Amino acid sequence: MYVVATPIGNLGDISLRALETLRGVDLVACEDTRHARHLLDHHGIKVPTLALHQHNENAAADKLIRLLGEGKSVALVSDAGTPGVSDPGARTVAAVRTAGFRVIPLPGPNAAIAALSAAGLADARFLFVGFLPAKVGARRTAIQELAGVDAALVFYEAPHRVVETVGELAELLQPQREIVIARELTKLFEQIERMPLTQAPAWLAADANHQRGEFVLVVSAPPPREGMDAETERVLATLLAELPVRQAAKLAAEITGQPKNALYARALELKAQDL
Ligand code: SAM
Repeated sequence: MYVVATPIGNLGDISLRALETLRGVDLVACEDTRHARHLLDHHGIKVPTLALHQHNENAAADKLIRLLGEGKSVALVSDAGTPGVSDPGARTVAAVRTAGFRVIPLPGPNAAIAALSAAGLADARFLFVGFLPAKVGARRTAIQELAGVDAALVFYEAPHRVVETVGELAELLQPQREIVIARELTKLFEQIERMPLTQAPAWLAADANHQRGEFVLVVSAPPPREGMDAETERVLATLLAELPVRQAAKLAAEITGQPKNALYARALELKAQDL
């Protein structure tokens, strides 16, 4: 089974190998048959299609496995970009591999990587988050947890939620961070803007067009953590000599008023140095 990345907007963004493969297989499994047909017709490819989406993925995967067993070749595509990346495909790939068939990836378009390539952030590491939870509480908790991750963060977002999400990122992440808002990549109204995270809500509000289309949000890594003051470090080290890490961090937080998470992280470092 070939896993084939397809364009995220511009139909020209498809590799020669992808076209050759789609032309040569017996069946193309796709999220939405009309969507895939549009791409296949554009390139004059007449292969039959089979719908495989999140609601029928298990049954469709069984069917693919039967066809592979009969010696047929199959390509798996999603509506846009790379299958399995914030798209169905992972369950099918796992089932096909478990059934003993080879899975061959054909790399190509991906919105996150396209945005990163044009973001110009110097951060060495990035974390692909994809879509945040839809419910406000879960989303805010997720963002708060991500604040401690020492990497650039890459989000996918839909137009109806982008204002809310960017507002929460600006509220809950460190104010020194920057954001690159990449909308409508590879399409007619492509726009890639870099700005301080704190200014992003105003930028979105300034023009209704800024809120339209498909979005990748790339937030730069947090500023380097400042060292702990000497007194806090002394309290923590003293407690750590007598107590387990978690308890030492908790007590040190009560005594010094410093955040427990930071003390716990520092306690782990001190413990590691001790070993
Ligand atoms: N599998 C795709 C990939 O490889 O990028 C992602 C599919 S996911 C269902 C759709 C989301 O990807 C959109 O809501 C948006 O966040 C992002 N996306 C897809 N195409 C995009 C584009 N042309 N410009 C900006 N973001 C895009």
